[in-house]
Amino acid sequence: MLTVQKYGGSSVADAKCIKRVANIVADTYRNGSDVVVVLSAPGDMTDDLIERAEEILPGASRRELDMLLATGEQQSVALMAMALEALGLPAVSMTGWQAGIHTTSRFGDARIRNVTTEHVLAELERKRIVIVAGFQGITNSGEITTIGRGGSDTTAVALAASLHADLCQIYKDVEGVYTANPRIVPEAKKLDEITYDEMLELASMGAEVLHNRAVEMARKYGVKLEVRSSFVSKPGTIVKEKTKMEETKISGIAKDSNIARIALVGLRDEPGVAFKVFRLMAARKINVDIILQSIGRENSKDISFTVAKSDLKAAEAALLDEREIIGFDKLDVSNTLCKVSIVGAGMINSSGVAAAMFEALFDVAVNIHMISTSEIKVSVLIDDVNADVAVRAIHKKFFGE
Ligand code: ASP
Ligand code: MG
Repeated sequence: MLTVQKYGGSSVADAKCIKRVANIVADTYRNGSDVVVVLSAPGDMTDDLIERAEEILPGASRRELDMLLATGEQQSVALMAMALEALGLPAVSMTGWQAGIHTTSRFGDARIRNVTTEHVLAELERKRIVIVAGFQGITNSGEITTIGRGGSDTTAVALAASLHADLCQIYKDVEGVYTANPRIVPEAKKLDEITYDEMLELASMGAEVLHNRAVEMARKYGVKLEVRSSFVSKPGTIVKEKTKMEETKISGIAKDSNIARIALVGLRDEPGVAFKVFRLMAARKINVDIILQSIGRENSKDISFTVAKSDLKAAEAALLDEREIIGFDKLDVSNTLCKVSIVGAGMINSSGVAAAMFEALFDVAVNIHMISTSEIKVSVLIDDVNADVAVRAIHKKFFGE
């Protein structure tokens, strides 16, 4: 049995936290499993290091930033090895490159290409607990890289996949994945299980639980994940291909405030107009989410779509630049919207799910601006002042009080 366990920054923030985590690791090891531990940098260290770099040279090269940021995780792993040694257990810490994490060369946002497992396997063979620095790797030419903020989850899944681990546990300061954010809906319930697809929908909509790339990788390689708490000893939420909870229609509700809407009014009603608009967005690397085309008036139509708030300025500027080429009367933007979505693999086989959601919104008199659906998701765009009320109403409709 091999278990990969990942602990985030808040779980290794100080000596007390590190000792607590060491005890969880020790229990797993003593219960007979081989253990690979992946750690984030302590607390807010990554942010602090970025700030320190800014003080010295704003916009410093990404190579040097990665060199600096990689030190955070390195501190965590060395301290954890010591904490385990203090408990009388054999442990060895490794940097990303010592653990064979090979990445592309895009500093600050590198991708894991492959993991060479010899070194880790040799240490496991010697019955040592292997503690690997998350978030970092090495390029073919020997440069240290980091793999994007929050990347330690992905390091853990990559190791679990290449070591064929039985389970990859992601320890967090929450007890698992909930039916809604408990800060908004106090009666939100922890889910026992959720599918990769559902988790991806929830994560990409701001459920803030798991790094999306980690879930994608877990799905691709069939790595069974468990999201659980490092503060209380309770089973968490299992993320896997299929769940047995097919009778439940929806698994969760998510809210995404990082959204802005652009409306193009009075476009010509002819072929190629949508192509011109979205080719432009693609060329500027702007991700488009919900798209709505409406009938408009004679010979003209309107197209509205949403982008991330941070992309709004760029999208607006691009469209105004090409106003002549695209041809529209008016460009209208809104920055006070929010997307609320329900997600559930069970939707595929049940009817009335969308209607129930809309009824919940009607009950609290929330107006819907846009709707989009997929096989396992229904999203609505509403005014952001209504977001929490909407989430609570929808939660009550599907999960009761
Ligand atoms: N320490 C890195 C960050 O804060 C990586 C991680 O936490 O997963 O983004
Ligand atoms: Mg961190």
